[in-house]
Amino acid sequence: MEPSEVMSISCSISDDRLIRVIEILESVYGVPEARSVDPLDLLVMTILSQNTSDINSGRAFEQLKSRFRSYTELLDASEKEIADAIRPGGLADIKAARIRGTLERLREDFGSVDLSALKKMSPEEARSYLTSIPGIGPKTASVLMLFGFGMPAMPVDTHVYRVSRRIGLVPENASIAETQRILEEITPPEKYLSLHINLIRHGRLVCRARNPLCGKCEVSGLCRYMQTRHITGASF
Ligand code: SF4
Repeated sequence: MEPSEVMSISCSISDDRLIRVIEILESVYGVPEARSVDPLDLLVMTILSQNTSDINSGRAFEQLKSRFRSYTELLDASEKEIADAIRPGGLADIKAARIRGTLERLREDFGSVDLSALKKMSPEEARSYLTSIPGIGPKTASVLMLFGFGMPAMPVDTHVYRVSRRIGLVPENASIAETQRILEEITPPEKYLSLHINLIRHGRLVCRARNPLCGKCEVSGLCRYMQTRHITGASF
């Protein structure tokens, strides 16, 4: 990418406008609080949540935790036993292999099934390490970094991606990777959690994929989609 392209992508929204968007979303949905969560549990939950609903992945996680007393015990089980425990979450055989492979990799790298070594890593090192594990992509790595370790990382799910582009936090044609990079660049680190969670809430409740409720949207005065759709008929 040419430097000029980087500039045009990075400068898609002013700092003031971004802060205003964050403030409005917080006034509507509240200021999310960071909750303490075991990073290993979070990692396994995130793998289980791939391509299924929260309800199904929650059931699969509960069954997994009641079937195995620890992740070390889980590693002594066969892949079929693991798959049977997570059957309600869908794609059980694939996810069982992914969970087992990930936990085995941690044991090989750190001497035990443990993620605490990440606390000593920089965000760049942590992201690079996590995404080097097969089956862990940028979104899973960012979820773990943000929620498990409080590191400045911005997971980009379908809601964050859609709503960011509509409002104009990033260019309309930004890829998921560009969206993550830009949001991480322009968002104050202490607001990563708030912006991430509230964009998801907004995407589920108001800025829905089909028929966004623009007439009821508190962000409409700052939204690029609102400003351009009457001119171009844009819809994304
Ligand atoms: S005005 Fe419409 S498109 Fe813009 S953020 Fe609100 S609901 Fe989404």
